[in-house]
Amino acid sequence: MDHRGRTGGCRTTRRPPRPARAPTVLLLALLALAAGTACRRDAGTPARAPKLEAGFLAMGGIPIHVRAWDADPVAFAAAVDGFRVELERQESILSVHRAGSTLSRLNGAGGAAVPVAPDTLALLELAAECAAETGGAFDPTVGPLLAAWKEAARSGVEPTAERIAAARASVGMQRVHADDDGRSGGTVRLEPPTTLDLGGIAKGWFADLGLARLRAAGLRRGLVELGGDLSAYDDRPQPEPFRVGVRDPSRTDGFLGTLAIDGGSVVTSGDYERGYDVGGRHFNHIIDPRSGRPASGLRAVTLQAPTGARADALATAVMVLGERDGWAFLARTPDAGAVLVVGDPAAPDGLRIRVTPDLRERFEPDAARRASLDPSP
Ligand code: ADP
Ligand code: MG
Repeated sequence: MDHRGRTGGCRTTRRPPRPARAPTVLLLALLALAAGTACRRDAGTPARAPKLEAGFLAMGGIPIHVRAWDADPVAFAAAVDGFRVELERQESILSVHRAGSTLSRLNGAGGAAVPVAPDTLALLELAAECAAETGGAFDPTVGPLLAAWKEAARSGVEPTAERIAAARASVGMQRVHADDDGRSGGTVRLEPPTTLDLGGIAKGWFADLGLARLRAAGLRRGLVELGGDLSAYDDRPQPEPFRVGVRDPSRTDGFLGTLAIDGGSVVTSGDYERGYDVGGRHFNHIIDPRSGRPASGLRAVTLQAPTGARADALATAVMVLGERDGWAFLARTPDAGAVLVVGDPAAPDGLRIRVTPDLRERFEPDAARRASLDPSP
């Protein structure tokens, strides 16, 4: 992306059909008497502190869980409410499924500059950085390729080489031009027929926005989980780790093991949750912008990084890069670590688990998955 001043833009493409607006808040500020009350493995339960919990659905049905410990329930409820309203605002900006959203207007602007809010510009900047850093494996302009594969899923016929080549011609962040006015936002312009879809980074970024609200409310230990993407912090003098369940791509409600983190974000990208069926074959919803085809190297990546936005984008990128290039990328990226799940017919249950050195001490495999751990350095 070329940009003057600071840059920016984004949106999420979660479950497309939007149900009639369900009551968003399912359960607000439920005061749980802590010790061991975590009903989910990713709850990160410390031994003593009382825990506050809230859950709601946002953005067409993504389950959001917010937790805080040692916290004032009133401050917590206000922070959660602010976060819920913030997510509604973000959806109205970033959704590529909503006609009036900033991103939809940008995608339909035919090359005209569209005004964008400062935070949207900042998100686009982050996305552009991740795109550059991953050599374009993460690329928020893959929309036309995604569209070709969605069309294929409908017709049952794979896109032709010509169709893929035509879609690829509009992919690349150099076709996105942002102009920051330094104060109230700026404008973004796309070279037609390029489109932007920030679904590969937005969910993690939203988790960061939630954490920022907990921190601003004075809460000292907090956690936000958004459709499986998790961000957490513990600012107390004696912080305790969070235990995060690493999902098992072969059992959607199962876990491969547990990752203990002190804070930051853990995001999983996998081939199991979403994707396209074409002619009886299942294809990943993550597209390799270089080949124009669905990513096929890895079953899943669970990636840890300091922020949700970065973890989300890099998890998508490592899915695209595959085992060898993804491993090399992680080796030269000191602030990211990952648990890679490799489809390997020679491994037990056809799954091999490869953990980057920085996370080895922190990853505890489930007993049933111990034999799948790749012992190589
Ligand atoms: P999930 O959390 O659902 O696994 P990801 O964070 O892996 O989602 O992102 C998948 C979404 O990102 C896709 O639905 C699509 O909108 C977008 N996307 C697909 N391929 C890429 C890519 N190579 N780079 C950036 N975004 C992508
Ligand atoms: Mg992602």
